[in-house]
Amino acid sequence: MLKQPEEMEIEAVTAELLDTKTLRLKWPEDYEPEFKTGQFITVYWPDTPIYKRAYSLSSCALDRGFYEVTVKRDGKMGTRLVDWARPGDKLWVIHPAGRFLPAYEPDKHLVCIAGGSGVTPFRGFVREATRRELATTITILYSVRTTHDIIFNGEFRAMETENPNFKFRVTCTRLVDKDPWTGRRGRINSQWVREQATDLANTVFYACGPNELVDSTEHLVLEELKVPKTQMRTEKWG
Ligand SMILES: Cc1cc2nc3c(=O)[nH]c(=O)nc-3n(C[C@H](O)[C@H](O)[C@H](O)COP(=O)(O)OP(=O)(O)OC[C@H]3O[C@@H](n4cnc5c(N)ncnc54)[C@H](O)[C@@H]3O)c2cc1C
Repeated sequence: MLKQPEEMEIEAVTAELLDTKTLRLKWPEDYEPEFKTGQFITVYWPDTPIYKRAYSLSSCALDRGFYEVTVKRDGKMGTRLVDWARPGDKLWVIHPAGRFLPAYEPDKHLVCIAGGSGVTPFRGFVREATRRELATTITILYSVRTTHDIIFNGEFRAMETENPNFKFRVTCTRLVDKDPWTGRRGRINSQWVREQATDLANTVFYACGPNELVDSTEHLVLEELKVPKTQMRTEKWG
C-alpha cells in the first residue's frame, strides 16, 4: 500500500565537508515505517511541492525515530538543502523506496564502489552490518579528488576498527605531488578492484552516484572483470 507523504522536522544539520551536510529528519508521532537499509527517500519543501528530489538514506534500518540523508551542494535542491536548511524547518518526505539493498549473506563479499557523495548509502550498509556483527565482508572503494573530500572519513575509520569484516579504501585523483597522503592515488581501475575482490564468484558489486561514475564502474565490473550482471547492483543519481 502506498503511504502518504509525511511532514518531518529537520532535527539536526551536521556539516560533513564544506559542501556536504547530513540532515536528520525526525519521524512524526505514530510513524512506524518498514524500510530497508540502502533505500532512498524523496523530499520536497512545503512552498514548492512540485519540486521533489530523491536522497539515499545514509542512516540504516536499525536507526528508528529519524531518517538521515547526506546532501552535496549541487543543483537547485542540493544547494537549498545545504545552504538554507535549518533545524526546526519542515520538509515533506515520501516513504523509502528502491532496490539498492545490501546482500547480507555470511559468505558474501560486498564491494561498494563510490565517487564523491555516492558513498552515502554505504554508510548505512556498514552501520547495520557492524551493529548486527554480521559475517558479511564489506569493502568500500572510494574515489575522491583530495583528502578534503572524504565524506564520513572518521566514521568509516571507526567502523573499520570495530568491524573486522569491513575495509575502507580511498583513492585520491587530484592531489598535488607534494601532498603527504600515503594512500592510493589515481582513478578506480580494474586492477585495483581485482586486488580487493579476491573471490569474484562470491562478490556482489555495488556502484552509486552520478551516471558517469556508475556507467564506468558497470563497464569495469561487467566487461573488464567479466562478472555476471546478477552480481551487480547500481543506483544512478542522474
Ligand atoms: C535514488 C537517488 C538517490 C540520490 N541520493 C543523493 C544523496 O544521497 N546525496 C546527494 O547529494 N544527492 C543525491 N541524489 C541527487 C539528488 O536527487 C539531486 O539530483 C541533487 O541534489 C541535485 O539537485 P537538483 O536535482 O535540484 O539539481 P538541478 O538544479 O536539477 O541540477 C542537476 C545537475 O545539473 C547541474 N546544473 C544545473 N543547472 C545547470 C546549468 N545551468 N548549467 C550546467 N549545469 C547545471 C547541477 O550542478 C546538477 O549537477 C540522488 C538521486 C537519486 C535519483
